[in-house]
Amino acid sequence: MSLAVLKFGGTSVGDGAAIRQTAQIIREATAHWDRVVVVSSAMGKSSDPNDAIKVTDVLLNAARAAAAGDGDAYARARRLLADKHHAAIQATISNVEDRQRVGAEIDQLLDGFEMLCASVRVLGEVTPRALDAIAGLGERMAVRILAGALRSVGVMAEPLDATEFIVTNDRFQAAAPLMDLTRERTLARLTPLLEAGIVPVVTGFIGATPNGIPTTLGRGGSDYSASIIAAVLGADEVFNYTDVDGVLTSDPHIVPDARTIDVLTAQEMSEMAYFGASVLHPMTIAPLVERNIPLRVKNTFNPSHPGTLIVHQATTAPSRGVIKAVTAIKNVSMITVSGGGMKGVPGIAGRTFMTVARTNTSVLMISQASAEQNICFVIPRQAAQAVVAALNEEFRREIEHGEINPVETFDQASIITAVGMGISETPGVSGRVFSALGARQINVFAIAQGSSECAISMIVADDRCDEAVRALHELTKE
Ligand code: ADP
Ligand code: ASP
Ligand code: MG
Repeated sequence: MSLAVLKFGGTSVGDGAAIRQTAQIIREATAHWDRVVVVSSAMGKSSDPNDAIKVTDVLLNAARAAAAGDGDAYARARRLLADKHHAAIQATISNVEDRQRVGAEIDQLLDGFEMLCASVRVLGEVTPRALDAIAGLGERMAVRILAGALRSVGVMAEPLDATEFIVTNDRFQAAAPLMDLTRERTLARLTPLLEAGIVPVVTGFIGATPNGIPTTLGRGGSDYSASIIAAVLGADEVFNYTDVDGVLTSDPHIVPDARTIDVLTAQEMSEMAYFGASVLHPMTIAPLVERNIPLRVKNTFNPSHPGTLIVHQATTAPSRGVIKAVTAIKNVSMITVSGGGMKGVPGIAGRTFMTVARTNTSVLMISQASAEQNICFVIPRQAAQAVVAALNEEFRREIEHGEINPVETFDQASIITAVGMGISETPGVSGRVFSALGARQINVFAIAQGSSECAISMIVADDRCDEAVRALHELTKE
């Protein structure tokens, strides 16, 4: 029995026209595959310039406004969301009874949204747990409409909330799946539907703790949901439908002439996603690697384009040493712990990273220092103040004795990364990278080749980031 998982991002369900297009793609897939599972994001931007509403953003902003005491914002958000979803229902669901039933379900979810925001307002604060319960409503609305749209084109489909079977830990806002429980529950819930020829239309982004408390997998997490489901069901292939022709050589907002990459290895894709290519959630590849499941990134609005295939074992030898893509993460801070007294003192690095971990901050990049006198790492900018304060406190005694300098921070930084199999160990590649930047007088503040052989990352000033990305992108053409 062949099985495909098809994931659709926010723009693919952004309005009635997009949902109809998505329903056609799914219908064609059901003719090709024995079994099809659909994963959907919340409604995103429409192609209509008058509707730029991204549902998850609206939900989160309303919750934060409620916490700040604003009693009107969530009422306004509810009206916006009701209009957007009801317009999509009108445009996609033909059966009157089905339309009314789905419409009533949307209204019920929106009642829940208002109630949650009202409680947040009374409490005057919004916890990560409450944010997850609120943020997940977008996907729960979208799957009901998409399943209705599928029934309208003759595909048997049922909406499902992944809170029933994607089981996660309780790290709200960035939860991790508990794979054994998830496998057990997903098989139990989805198999009877698939055997009956029904297409399950599953919410991306969300899960629940073993006790049923809703969680989310982090922003952009619907990609991850699709690969978790594909892994536990042993799917043959995952199709990730978005609004560009696959994975591009760079972010098209920075590099207008970025090109589609035909084939990437899982390692290259993981590095790209980790270092800022927002086209896939950074965790998407991991569950697929073990099961050797290929993933194809495709464009909902240009479905005949082959897109990008991500493979685990390259069938032909990957072109080693070639720069395939360039990515960027903006708004980061570079933190430096240094001092003559650090040399030969064991445990400074351990204490540094333990202290950072206590502030709940993830380290994006660690730079290799040639001397033992300096530890340099990069974190999201919003965490910088807390991390610097915590480090100065941790090393207070050493700072007082002049063994360690007060912690330094460089706040206007970006990480740019060149990705391609074998580039960090191929002689000459780093030379080309640094001369491309040097020729434009772009300073490199730190470098990391990291543990992976297929990426080189550099820190540059924020205001030179786009220029640096474009300069390195020229090297993808060589
Ligand atoms: P979806 O809602 O379909 O998940 P996302 O907005 O999360 O879509 O991701 C697709 C977007 O990622 C593209 O529209 C593009 O602007 C952006 N992007 C950034 N870097 C890349 C890249 N290297 N390749 C493709 N898209 C990229
Ligand atoms: N809707 C969620 C978000 O906007 C998840 C996703 O789109 O993948 O982050
Ligand atoms: Mg996405």
